[in-house]
Amino acid sequence: AKAHGRNTWRLYAPEMNASAYDDMLLAVDLRQAIDVGELELHLQPQFTLAQGQPVGMEALLRWTHRTRGPVSPARFIPIAESSGMIAEIGNWVLREAARIWSRWRSEGLVPLPIAVNLSAVQFQAPDFLHEVGRVLSEFDLPAGALEMELTEGTLMANTDAAVETLHQLVGKGIQIAIDDFGTGYSSLSYLRRFPVSKLKIDRSFVLDLGKHGNEGAEAIASAVIAMAKSLQLRVIAEGVETAEQRDFLKDHGCDEVQGYLYARPMSVEAATALLAQRARS
Ligand code: C2E
Ligand code: CA
Ligand code: CA
Ligand code: CA
Repeated sequence: AKAHGRNTWRLYAPEMNASAYDDMLLAVDLRQAIDVGELELHLQPQFTLAQGQPVGMEALLRWTHRTRGPVSPARFIPIAESSGMIAEIGNWVLREAARIWSRWRSEGLVPLPIAVNLSAVQFQAPDFLHEVGRVLSEFDLPAGALEMELTEGTLMANTDAAVETLHQLVGKGIQIAIDDFGTGYSSLSYLRRFPVSKLKIDRSFVLDLGKHGNEGAEAIASAVIAMAKSLQLRVIAEGVETAEQRDFLKDHGCDEVQGYLYARPMSVEAATALLAQRARS
């Protein structure tokens, strides 16, 4: 038996370790999370580095479990992927982002593009493009309303199929960003084949910018910025927390920034207030 929570004891198969058992419990609850309204999207604004103008919002999933409280997406997304639920959750995220965007429009605001994160499993699902088309027409979204963030790993898994799917998405007016750029293994020649418009420099490199003795991260960040420029792609740095990091990025010509220094992920209400404030100023 294993202690679970404060007062409950549950039996579990001895060959299953505690963490696999806990994953299984979470998977069961995750299956109901959409239906009982425990999932929510938060939005983190992205800004131009030069002017500090908001130019987009990244949608980030939040799960408030009824007894555990907040569960990180870094924990539950892999569980959703391995237990066959990621397509349903990903489609929910897509529809929710579209709903938020169209609500902004109907409230007379000037909506910013919303970027959603795609899991590889979702991107490769046979009915993915069909679902995207349904959501776009259900909410009558114009080109440029949605962006999608994919990692290098997702794109490199089956390159020919990925290139084809990306072209279809771009044809629907969806911009593509490569997430966590620099941590994967995409080559310059592949990058040219993908119809992407933006590179996101991973937070692990941004973390060490402007510190002494971290020339490696600085070399990578400036190389990514230079590469983006030469391919005429926009480049954004994620996880910007300090003025030193911002200054380094500014000096090296990075276009956009996202991070706690500028704004944390916020509720849809707070993001809507930010848009309204922008309209007034
Ligand atoms: P990601 O796509 O790389 O998202 C950026 C993560 O960095 C987010 O964590 C965000 O809250 C956090 N972040 C932003 N600015 C800062 C900063 O200045 N400092 C620090 N320390 N962190 C910052 P979060 O929300 O916990 O999400 C973690 C990961 O979960 C995401 O990484 C993404 O891979 C995944 N994820 C989140 N939402 C979704 C979703 O709707 N679908 C899929 N497939 N994955 C998602
Ligand atoms: Ca992302
Ligand atoms: Ca990222
Ligand atoms: Ca990251």
